[in-house]
Amino acid sequence: MTNSAIRFDKVSRYFGDVKAVDAVDLEINDGEFFSMLGPSGSGKTTCLRMIAGFDRPTSGSIHLYGQEVSDLPPYDRDVNTVFQDYALFPHMTVGDNIAYGLMIKRVPKTERAKRLDEILDLVQLAGFAARKPSQLSGGQRQRVALARALINHPKVLLLDEPLGALDLKLRQQMQVELKSIQKRVGITFIFVTHDQEEALTMSDRIAVFNQGKIEQIGSPSDVYERPASSFVAGFVGTSNLVSGEVAKRITGSDQKFSIRPEKIHLGSASDVLTETMYKANGTVRDVIYLGLYTRYLVSLDDGGDLVVIEQNLKTTSMDVLKARDQKVVLFWEKDHISRVGG
Ligand code: ATP
Repeated sequence: MTNSAIRFDKVSRYFGDVKAVDAVDLEINDGEFFSMLGPSGSGKTTCLRMIAGFDRPTSGSIHLYGQEVSDLPPYDRDVNTVFQDYALFPHMTVGDNIAYGLMIKRVPKTERAKRLDEILDLVQLAGFAARKPSQLSGGQRQRVALARALINHPKVLLLDEPLGALDLKLRQQMQVELKSIQKRVGITFIFVTHDQEEALTMSDRIAVFNQGKIEQIGSPSDVYERPASSFVAGFVGTSNLVSGEVAKRITGSDQKFSIRPEKIHLGSASDVLTETMYKANGTVRDVIYLGLYTRYLVSLDDGGDLVVIEQNLKTTSMDVLKARDQKVVLFWEKDHISRVGG
């Protein structure tokens, strides 16, 4: 038995000159919540479409639970997709929309009704079966789409930016709910998003895409705390990149490194630093008070700028604004830097 739900071996998909997906190797485990994260046009949706069978690789092979599927049509794959626009049938009730797949498969009526009740409970829509999609809120429609995709227990559920149409609050609520539904049903979820916070919140592992290639695969904390490249450091959260002579003055090596703004302390010459810390002298150029925290832009004496974020534990907006033009000493734990390539 293999534990691998999906495997890509050197999968490429070209559209003329465009290398939408470029020699991607990838393994997704059974039962995993796996996100494909990347900017627009980086190849995420094309990967998803190839898993679903809506598109085929130009070269390379795709395995689903150990079976080569590169040439199998969508209906022969144990995979369902939830699209961003939900694609619900407007003239059908919620119940009929959700049970449609079972009807096509000629599942007997009593069994259909039982599974419909179970799934309505799971997505918290008990009592909504008789409504039409137009009588639902955006979040509720999203749940109908999810229920419809889950009712025939696919092994893999593909989700293409399914929360994209929701406002921020609802989106955050649905993120928590999706994760909890996934845990309960134990199905492999593959989630496409360009929103790094969303990927960090929900995923067991994340693949970061850039120009048809995967730059890094890892847990949210791997990708955030240990970005493998400048691209990942910049795309996932905010990061400071330091290279060349400035890096050398700080760390003794001119290899490029990244350091997250919230890991840097804003101090003064009187702070006593330990052996475990790096430091850099600079001047505060800009201060942005953001309620929960404050962002400082500090120009280093040796050249370049660093962004520092400090939580406003005791400070008020008046206090923090006084920091502008002050000489400061920045320091952070040596452990908190990541050496990055590219
Ligand atoms: P988004 O977040 O905007 O959906 P994405 O990361 O999902 O982006 P893809 O949709 O996979 O990116 O597209 C990858 C590249 O392939 C893009 O440059 C896109 O223009 C190109 N592409 C995708 N589908 C086609 C097609 N059918 N014909 C031609 N080019 C295509």
